[in-house]
Amino acid sequence: MSEQAVIDNLDFARNGRVMRGEAQLAGFARLQDLLISDRGVVNYTLSGDIGAKGEPLLICVVEGELLLQCQRCLEAMVFPLHIESRLRLVQGATQFDDLDHGDEEEDSIPVSAEMDVLELVEDEILLSLPISPLHPPELCSGKRAQGAADEKRNNPFGALAALKVK
Ligand SMILES: [Zn+2]
Repeated sequence: MSEQAVIDNLDFARNGRVMRGEAQLAGFARLQDLLISDRGVVNYTLSGDIGAKGEPLLICVVEGELLLQCQRCLEAMVFPLHIESRLRLVQGATQFDDLDHGDEEEDSIPVSAEMDVLELVEDEILLSLPISPLHPPELCSGKRAQGAADEKRNNPFGALAALKVK
């Protein structure tokens, strides 16, 4: 059902390739525990580039919205994704290598002839999520009267619409 996109990431970077796509949230197995709803999609763009020192890079952009559970009131909260990561490709790197990154914020990922693009997108989403998602205090029904909380529960999408307007 879910398409698979596998790239040779070094070749992708060196040739400045670009891949755009839409990924179903339901296809991200590791994300499921954190989502209130797995309906919807995220849009991603993966671009290859070469950095100032000749280092191969992948730039991973992910946009979308997730529905997470507020850890204070346990109701749904909209969490907008605006990810833009610069990932340096390193031969045989592990995530634990202490690499000198200079000024720029770059993470390293290993060079791979068969990198799963959607797995990378899922990694980036997971890294961007708060450990404990919370509504802003003024919007969180955990601090409101019980009546207001019940009203929201009866009409969760009304509450979400209100959040989006904010
Ligand atoms: Zn809340």
